[in-house]
Amino acid sequence: MNRKILSAIGYALLLSIIPLSGCIGNEQPISLPPRPPAKAEPETFGDLLGDFNFTAYSGTLPLGENVYDYDHYLSYNHGFRLVLTPTHDMARDELVSKMESLGLEVRLQDFGSHQNILGFKWGEDRERALVLGAHYDTINTVHGANDNGGGCCAVLEIARALSGYNFSKTIVFALWDAEEIGLKGSAHFASNHKEFNISMSAYINFDCIGVNYPCKDVATGENLGLTVGTALGNVCADFNELARFAAVNVTGVAAELAKFPEAGSGSDHASFKSVCPILSFESETENTGWYTSFCNSPLDTFPTYEASAGGAEELKKGLDTIVQTGYYIVVVWADYYAYYEE
Ligand SMILES: [Zn+2]
Repeated sequence: MNRKILSAIGYALLLSIIPLSGCIGNEQPISLPPRPPAKAEPETFGDLLGDFNFTAYSGTLPLGENVYDYDHYLSYNHGFRLVLTPTHDMARDELVSKMESLGLEVRLQDFGSHQNILGFKWGEDRERALVLGAHYDTINTVHGANDNGGGCCAVLEIARALSGYNFSKTIVFALWDAEEIGLKGSAHFASNHKEFNISMSAYINFDCIGVNYPCKDVATGENLGLTVGTALGNVCADFNELARFAAVNVTGVAAELAKFPEAGSGSDHASFKSVCPILSFESETENTGWYTSFCNSPLDTFPTYEASAGGAEELKKGLDTIVQTGYYIVVVWADYYAYYEE
């Protein structure tokens, strides 16, 4: 480089220092570049939900059609899942393979002669976990398309939709054994989950789902709602608010048809009532009307399941509502809500 240019640069630097050194003696503040705005602390959980970027997760939504297709396959090829029968064990092996194909770390949890199927999606935090569950056993002589093939397939479809994301928190996808003989699988996990070195932040149950919003009751023609039991003695207001928000604001369930009653005690969520906050998805028709005539009877076949929703396309839409509401609850919990919990 030319010497004249170098000396010119040096002179310019000297000039630039003079006014600066003059400022120091006068104790005037040195102006700093503006700070980035601090992340606002959410005032309420509702504010936080309002800020959540749901569209960031809308590209890989779980689909009712996938639940429908796999449940169709299961009920024709792996129905009759009464505990301790060869057809039950063949179904268990099929479900293990399916979970492995989703990239989950699959472990069987033995208790007595039964086995829970657990799929772990580990986060950086391997300690706190959200657990999603559905029972895979049936009573005797039952295909179990609705009770509870639909719930199992919903859990697996949500796992598929989440497979491309890495969350800081751990998510466990559980298929419980021996629900029909006294909630035994979920009760065993509730008492023994520490053997996997996890604590439970929350539990979401799926049992007899899909015949719900936007399907109509085939007996009365009335609109069906989306029913999510939310408490059973262990209230978590934020978790309930999250469920309502996901159903109404994100997946479009009509507000007047989003129903959030106290959870009953008839399925696996009851096993967790003293462990963590719980949510339980079930069809509104579970305890009313036409459906009760085939619940827990040999009539629980795939054609009956489909007919009870008003047809194949209606059932797929009803399943959309379930899995997409469940999915958004999980992403908020695993992403933003985990931050909120700190
Ligand atoms: Zn059931």
